[in-house]
Amino acid sequence: MIPAKFDYEVAESVDHAIELLGSGKDAKLLAGGHSLLPLMRLRLARPELLVDIGRLGDLSYVREDGDAIAIGALTRYADLAADELLAAECPIVAHTSGLVGDPQVRHRGTIGGSVAHADPASDIPTVLVALEAELVARGHGGERRLPVAESFAGFLETALGPQEVLTEIRVPKTGSAGWSYVKFNRRAQDWATVAVAAVRENGGARVALTNMGATTLRASGVEEALSSGSDPATAAERAAEGTSPPSDHNGSAEYREHLARVLTRRALEEALA
Ligand code: FAD
Repeated sequence: MIPAKFDYEVAESVDHAIELLGSGKDAKLLAGGHSLLPLMRLRLARPELLVDIGRLGDLSYVREDGDAIAIGALTRYADLAADELLAAECPIVAHTSGLVGDPQVRHRGTIGGSVAHADPASDIPTVLVALEAELVARGHGGERRLPVAESFAGFLETALGPQEVLTEIRVPKTGSAGWSYVKFNRRAQDWATVAVAAVRENGGARVALTNMGATTLRASGVEEALSSGSDPATAAERAAEGTSPPSDHNGSAEYREHLARVLTRRALEEALA
């Protein structure tokens, strides 16, 4: 289908983007366009104004910042997948970026767009939840930081304000600590039917689930079982606790619950090995 009529402006800076978002029209930011444009073509989104931030090169970077790695919101998956600093200091982000969609998606889609779109079937948000990453957003009132898990408010819904620009994602340096992202899909370029991220922490792990509910979910039952001394196979049995997976052409809710348990066991075995 053809999108509804909209106006289009190119932002020359983050401040300019914020100003355009406050123009009084129902405005949306456009980054890689790989989630927003399909929604507009289906007329599920009908913004009056698109504010194109895709050319803000200063929001595309990966750099060291103390104990964290700072990633510009406009950094594309292909750049994350090839980034040497990430590969050394937070390899789960580089690895998972290489699993998103196909090469075309990875060369257009941005990490910030993925977080702001808040699709529970997306890969990178799950990894960011397992890493307890932090978001940096800028709006009329200045800059604020918020934990990524708090930003996912519902299906395709975030805690970002309508006139806020997500500028940076901050992930901890995990160095050589164990990690795993196990994605189950029918074809290599498909979205995850279910996926699991696990990041080793002390004797246990932080675990998060893709496509098991309205938002990316933390598998707290699994984490609790691990910290009370359960082995990975026993802890993984609790992976579907508190989830509400969808049923669709890729699998029923029951099948997804089964997948969550199996994939969690595999992710834990890899991360804790
Ligand atoms: P856009 O589409 O430009 O924007 C998405 C939303 O975020 C919009 O509401 C926009 O206003 C908002 N937004 C964008 N940037 C910002 C910002 N800096 N601050 C505030 N709001 C912002 N994803 C996966 O995780 N795994 C997959 O396997 C996968 N497969 C795909 C296959 C196909 C064929 C396609 C088309 C997409 C696929 N995707 C997949 C989605 C892809 O990752 C998207 O690119 C990503 O989710 C959105 O990033 P974007 O830069 O394209 O954002």
